[in-house]
Amino acid sequence: MNLLKLYYLIYFKKIKPFDLSRFILKKIENSLFKNYFINIDYNYIKKQCLYSEKLLLKNKNNLLTGIPTTYKDVFSTKSINTTAGSRILKNYNIFYNATFLNKLNNLGVINIGKSNMDEFCVGSNTFNFYFGKTENPLNKNFTTGGSSGGSVYLVSKNLLPFSIGSDTGGSVRQPALFNNVIGFKPTYGLISRYGMFSYSSSLDTIGIFSKNILNISIILNSVTGFDIKDQTTFNLTKEDYTRYLNKNWLLNKINYKKLIGLNVGVSKNFFNNIYNFSVRSNMEDVLLNFEFLGAKIIFINILFFDFINIIYNIISSSELYSNISKYNNKFLFDKICFFLNKKTFFNSLSINTKNKFFIGNYLISSNKKKKFFFLSKKIRILILENFKKIFTICDIIITPTISCNNWNFLDFNLNKNFIDKYTSVSNLIGLPSVSLPSKILYYKSFKFFQGFQIIGNYFSEARLIQIINEYEKNFFKCF
Ligand code: GLN
Repeated sequence: MNLLKLYYLIYFKKIKPFDLSRFILKKIENSLFKNYFINIDYNYIKKQCLYSEKLLLKNKNNLLTGIPTTYKDVFSTKSINTTAGSRILKNYNIFYNATFLNKLNNLGVINIGKSNMDEFCVGSNTFNFYFGKTENPLNKNFTTGGSSGGSVYLVSKNLLPFSIGSDTGGSVRQPALFNNVIGFKPTYGLISRYGMFSYSSSLDTIGIFSKNILNISIILNSVTGFDIKDQTTFNLTKEDYTRYLNKNWLLNKINYKKLIGLNVGVSKNFFNNIYNFSVRSNMEDVLLNFEFLGAKIIFINILFFDFINIIYNIISSSELYSNISKYNNKFLFDKICFFLNKKTFFNSLSINTKNKFFIGNYLISSNKKKKFFFLSKKIRILILENFKKIFTICDIIITPTISCNNWNFLDFNLNKNFIDKYTSVSNLIGLPSVSLPSKILYYKSFKFFQGFQIIGNYFSEARLIQIINEYEKNFFKCF
């Protein structure tokens, strides 16, 4: 769904924001799978529609006024409960909005609900044992990916132009791949995380789902920027992320090889580790496409490749432990979990969260800290140094998003170990990366979406958007 088309419809009064949201909600209510949302509040939706209609009346509207969207339930909202997908926060009320959400609210964006997710973002299939599972749009028994699975589903069904999720180790890019949409994870610190429930504070990033890259650049324009409440954000000059889109009309006319001069890094390690034939052949096609557009392929070597997943797991588990322990604090516990007694606190966490929580506890216990957590942090810096060197010789790196096609809900445990292998690198060192759809694979009686990942240099979002736009125009049409 194209954001600009919706904008024109709203601006020329062909449709009212209220009718648009009602149309979408009706479609959702009629559909069979009902687990996209954790919380919907109809009165709140009405209020937001009235606000956006007021903006339109006063001619204070902008590109996003009246546009419906959904946020992962990990972002704090004043008017609706925020659960982070957890039973223990079922009735948790927060008195402030997340910063980026406030920015969008002020522009008149309509939040039609808080979407389903894995508990505390831990997991990769949106199989929430308390709020239900979200299913894959193609095959009922396959996962929709996770942990931001609820947000992505409605975008893939063309009901929403964009939605917001969070990415700690691939939770935006991996569901984007399984649902044939673009999943965009910006540089760490580009969007304020204030108001977001932390899973692993040094890895968490806010991510955007959409079916076309123009929508993503418009959202980036309105949510990025320094926030005094989040000291990890950067104080940079305001950028226009749409600036490279469709402005090279002269070049378009002269040359079809629009990516001439682009150096694409491809890691040998990535290729050696793909054991799934279809993923491998898809990657080969993608690289051919880039070469067709004039890009040059360069082979690179990523150091510590085999340890990346382990380091990710050590750091994320340790940070999860310190982030979740606060709910076990006496004051908060009485406030939030009044329906539970203290013994059942851990029992009401899902197995995934519990596992990570206890592993984290072990890893940062006083005598193990040096051996695991601190060592991982040191290796993380070495990985960063290595990537800095790589980016002196190439502009982007292309990798698979994930090394298999999809998995059945029941198979989940079998695939657990390599799920975040390709995606977690960019979280560890804070690089921007995007998962893009490429084609559909027909296998036996199943259909799978396939795609790939592009990793860019720090703050190169505008350039990434330009490259994706060129690729999009030539090789796929999402909408
Ligand atoms: N599957 C990964 C994990 O459980 C990533 C989750 C995420 O990015 N939020 O850690």
